[in-house]
Amino acid sequence: MSTDPAEAGPDPAPSAVPSAAVTTAAEAPGRVAVIVPAAGKGERLGPGAPKALRELGGLPLLVHAVRTLVAARSVDVVVVAAPPNPQGLAEVQRLLADLPGDTRVVAGGRTRQESVALALAALPADCDVVLVHDAARALTPVDVVEAVVAAVRAGAGAVIPVLPVADTIKAVDGDQVSATVDRSTLRAVQTPQGFTRDILAKAHAASNPSLPATDDAGLVEALGLPVHTVPGHAEAFKITTPFDLVLAEAVLRRRR
Ligand code: C5P
Repeated sequence: MSTDPAEAGPDPAPSAVPSAAVTTAAEAPGRVAVIVPAAGKGERLGPGAPKALRELGGLPLLVHAVRTLVAARSVDVVVVAAPPNPQGLAEVQRLLADLPGDTRVVAGGRTRQESVALALAALPADCDVVLVHDAARALTPVDVVEAVVAAVRAGAGAVIPVLPVADTIKAVDGDQVSATVDRSTLRAVQTPQGFTRDILAKAHAASNPSLPATDDAGLVEALGLPVHTVPGHAEAFKITTPFDLVLAEAVLRRRR
């Protein structure tokens, strides 16, 4: 299985991470934690288990995602926000018990943003770099994780993996097209997103819980701080619909 981000497409988005020369590695000297918000119901995959616990190749999406994270050399701790009910918590604890590495479980909240904030509050004090990764991106290659950590270590306060947009994108008003958006300036955003702990904590503290953002980088942007990009990977796609599960099964078969 190749994990070369260059395979993601013919025109990977250029990296916009600042060079190490303009930064101080000392800003983020500590350990690396990854938060995995997995407390959602995931109804778009149809009725049944929460999305993170749906099976792919006989294992829950969450297990695939956490396996990759603990296999990443730069990752020290993985904290999963589980469904806050007793069954949800127990199930996630049971699933993580067999995995190597330092994995921990906290009760998630009512929104993704709240789940991330609760996990952030539970991180060990010596973790200065924090990634946030959706369990639904279960097949994200380890190289993407390492690239995000490296960019934060090189001085970026906030980093997101992105891919160029292949489709033409139009704005619509009802069933009528109102504008064609310039595709060359657009990027599809993936996870893990990486931050210095300080910036992620500030972004969450300043956020409005009644206006939840769809990603953590959005909260950093709202603070007026820069968010940098690194190339994402086609296999880091979000497993959201039954069709995505079929695609994910095919990716997994090719890897095995
Ligand atoms: O529902 P959506 O696809 O936006 O969820 C994105 C991620 O956030 C999923 O991994 C889901 O489990 C997680 N989530 C969460 N807590 C919530 C809602 C969603 O951790 N209350």
